[in-house]
Amino acid sequence: MDENTGGLAGLFAPERVAVIGATESEGSIGRAITQNLQADFAGETVPVNPNYDDVLGLKCYPDIDDVPGELNLAVVVVPPKIAVEAVRQCGEAGVRNVVVITAGFGETGSEGASREQELTEVAAEYDLNLVGPNSLGVMSTPTGLNATFGPENALSGSISFMSQSGAFITAVLDWANDEGIGFKDVVSLGNKAVLDETDFVEAWGDDPDTDVILGYLEGVEDGAEFIESARRVTDDTPIVMVKSGRTEAGAQAVSSHTGTLAGSEQAYEAGLEQAGVLRVENVQELFDFAQILSGQPIPESDDVAIVTNAGGPGVMTTDAVGDSNLSLASFSDETLSELSEAMPEEANIYNPIDAIGDADIERFERALDIALADENVGCAVVLSAPTAVIDFDDLSEVITDLQAEHGKPIASVLMGGESTESAREVLREGGIPNYFDPARAVRSLDSLSRYREISQREYEAPEKFDVDRERAREVLERAEERGDNRLGVEAMDLLSAYGIPTPEGTIAEDPEQAVAAAQDIEGDVVMKIVSPDILHKSDIGGVKVGVSPEDVYDAFEDLVTRARNYQPDADILGVQVQEMVDLDSGTETIIGMNRDPQFGPLLLFGLGGIFVEVLEDTETRVAPVSEREATEMVDGIRSAPLLRGARGRDPADREAIVESLQRLSQLVTDFPAILELDVNPLVAGPDGVQAVDVRLTVDTDELEES
Ligand code: ADP
Ligand code: MG
Repeated sequence: MDENTGGLAGLFAPERVAVIGATESEGSIGRAITQNLQADFAGETVPVNPNYDDVLGLKCYPDIDDVPGELNLAVVVVPPKIAVEAVRQCGEAGVRNVVVITAGFGETGSEGASREQELTEVAAEYDLNLVGPNSLGVMSTPTGLNATFGPENALSGSISFMSQSGAFITAVLDWANDEGIGFKDVVSLGNKAVLDETDFVEAWGDDPDTDVILGYLEGVEDGAEFIESARRVTDDTPIVMVKSGRTEAGAQAVSSHTGTLAGSEQAYEAGLEQAGVLRVENVQELFDFAQILSGQPIPESDDVAIVTNAGGPGVMTTDAVGDSNLSLASFSDETLSELSEAMPEEANIYNPIDAIGDADIERFERALDIALADENVGCAVVLSAPTAVIDFDDLSEVITDLQAEHGKPIASVLMGGESTESAREVLREGGIPNYFDPARAVRSLDSLSRYREISQREYEAPEKFDVDRERAREVLERAEERGDNRLGVEAMDLLSAYGIPTPEGTIAEDPEQAVAAAQDIEGDVVMKIVSPDILHKSDIGGVKVGVSPEDVYDAFEDLVTRARNYQPDADILGVQVQEMVDLDSGTETIIGMNRDPQFGPLLLFGLGGIFVEVLEDTETRVAPVSEREATEMVDGIRSAPLLRGARGRDPADREAIVESLQRLSQLVTDFPAILELDVNPLVAGPDGVQAVDVRLTVDTDELEES
């Protein structure tokens, strides 16, 4: 059995389950769990409680030690003060799987938090698969296991479902049971002291009885680990998730503008997308997607045929297709001629096919059959309003049969109330979802197509460039020497060490040095104040563009005066004298990174300069990124056409931007001590890029460790 649910077979398919803290007392959790187990569980339920000889007719043992024979799973419901000890005894007694229902751990303040810490340590000591604490429990329908204190057991099915909220599970089951939606396994994750979403993604990815993995999450424990596991699993098992709630603002200070743009929500969006998770916004979509993914095949193409007897809803469906990633199929000539033979003259044989209101079941069947046979059709929406000549029961049989015959996915829209009830039953048995709203049908089909893209993704390893890691470390160490964790343009050579092109530049400490530096540079120069206390140099007049050699001396003094006026005690390191970069033929872009507490380094790309804040037109990905992901970032912003040379401009060197992103990705992956970093602007010209400004924050303690 072990290969079925990975290493968690004992958790979901145990033969004997102990309930530690079983009791008969009315309204207690210990009673509810014992009763739920008694109701459907194929294996043996063993109550443990020193105060009883038997519980609900089952022999009760004082201690887990006293139970003869092997136990695969223990459910712990004792009060918080003795729960950790109870888990330890489970470990001692050789029980490998433990579900801790007991609350009063990390969710309740510092005493609870240290209790949870102890629990984690005990679990590690005995190598326990531990669910919870503060969990509603687990369910697994093949063995009838209901080790929860919820009011209802699940129906059997092929969806496995994890939730960070126990209450949400009871609500979902209540509704799913009405809808006839079944589950393979259900887990209430609780506080995730040991087992978390990644463990269940892995276990269910290896489980042949799980067709779809569903999750309701408030956070992901370890983003990088999750991405790695989910990437593998989504090759053949779709994962659909709602992510609600916000993560902690993060341990590090996120100070710059881009830091706030690349907040945690963006990390989830990017991370879950890179993991291949179909992220949904609401509960309805969670189950719409789950149902169609578990019931219908994946379409080979995104071309939809619409077959209806009602013009209006047909148009609504067409609009919904327009809003989705799908497209309206254009029928082959053969299909059109077959349809024109089969349909009355008033009918519309072009997609959407309108068989019109007097269509009987034969006409409907003919239309759908012809449409599905067309190789330009990947999937279909069948719509019907109630009419005197069509019987929904007959129609549901036709839809189910033709779906099975052609092997193309169908979503049906039998529009009505009670009149659709038995038809929906037939459709459900054929794995075909039915909706009142055509837009839902289209979105569901769209999820199949999105999953096809995900399942076909080939993982591409990030490129490793030949870089000067030692020199980069030296630059970062300067922050430490200065006792400041912020670095600015004086750290430009950090970028050159990683092969990101920068214009020639020097930090001058006095006007004479500035003049000398300018002499080494051809033509006019740019001069910038260099101070960790001045984050936005141009805001205080701290950047002078196009300074001619004879003005350099005065410009130096002027810049320093301005900085002093702005902040008298500012730590001024000098003035940077930098080569001019041609801004007329280039576009100011930004590449940056912000470290997320869950997902780690989050890369950002967007238009630079003032645009970054005004337009919020950025793309983010969790680093390290592959070349493909970096390319997607560059092509993904709304203003991408600007880079491709809109309005007669020369196109920007996109490959050079992509490469800079990959190199930045390598830099921030190599140095976890870099907390955030912006290159703004990275000027993207027709022949290459130039990083003209940089700002970063370094965790100097971390630098010592790495
Ligand atoms: P800050 O972002 O702190 O104000 P920057 O170094 O980014 O300082 O400079 C502000 C702006 O000045 C840039 O967005 C760019 O338009 C211009 N600029 C800066 N350096 C150069 C340069 N070397 N060549 C041409 N323009 C520059
Ligand atoms: Mg800047």
